[in-house]
Amino acid sequence: MTAVEAPAKPRPRIPEWLRLKLPTQNTFAQTRNLLSDLRLHTVCESAKCPNHWECWSKGTATFMIAGDRCTRACGFCAVTTAKPFALEVDEPARVAEATRRMRLKHVVITAVARDDLADGGAEHFQQTIEAVRAENPGIVIEVLVPDFLARDASIDTVLAAGPHIYNHNLETVRRLTPAVRSRATYDRSLEVLRTVKEKRGESIYTKSGLMLGLGETEEELFTALADLREARCDILTLGQYLQPTLKHLPVAEFVTPERFEAYGRHARQLGFVHVASGPMVRSSYHADEVGIVALTSTVRETEKK
Ligand code: SF4
Repeated sequence: MTAVEAPAKPRPRIPEWLRLKLPTQNTFAQTRNLLSDLRLHTVCESAKCPNHWECWSKGTATFMIAGDRCTRACGFCAVTTAKPFALEVDEPARVAEATRRMRLKHVVITAVARDDLADGGAEHFQQTIEAVRAENPGIVIEVLVPDFLARDASIDTVLAAGPHIYNHNLETVRRLTPAVRSRATYDRSLEVLRTVKEKRGESIYTKSGLMLGLGETEEELFTALADLREARCDILTLGQYLQPTLKHLPVAEFVTPERFEAYGRHARQLGFVHVASGPMVRSSYHADEVGIVALTSTVRETEKK
């Protein structure tokens, strides 16, 4: 080091409960080859998800449609920010083919934020949902969508395809939102979730999630959970924020597994029908554990439409 170079700021030590086990099964390679063969993007890779090894080794992944270039630049997210390419018209069919080959019973489909498109990419979501259902009748379809700037028409477009779970993340508490998210606002995200429930009521599940360890207080977290319930959000995920690169927001705190458990209990008392709370939980982590059985009536209702 020369005299003028400042020493790099040390990163906080990763606690034991966040250490990863690398895969040993062939399934990981099979998943990777299948996704590469079909030229599909996943949020698992693009967002540097720490569960990448585990989920792919179990033959699951979360598809990221509409390209791998996002029009937003959130402080927590590793997805590339750049001018996106045009939508690929055959992408919905390729996602459907992947879900068929992977024999998924529950699929999670997300996308980059496409603020460059008039509908924010809603029609592309609709086409993908329809293609997946046509190829896999009976599959539970969960979409993890951007806010579409709360455009009613875009929300309607996605709902018209009949997803079973409409997931939109609040990401963090109100005070930290401007530093953590780009363009998205705390109130708009609540509005999106509330609107979906107003339009579809009990025939759809809404879902949201927050990352912890960004500097939020317990009181702020509990207010956010109450706000989500007030917006009639059904399903909740709480997980530890991990800094994907040194250019992203630093971790303020590693929340212990015991506190995640306590927050999960608190959320259940507030009335969420399903809660996943733990250091490694992500929006789509073990998404199928929400319970196919619990969803059966919802699936039937949606398929009638
Ligand atoms: S938790 Fe979700 S994003 Fe992460 S690897 Fe698993 S499926 Fe992919």
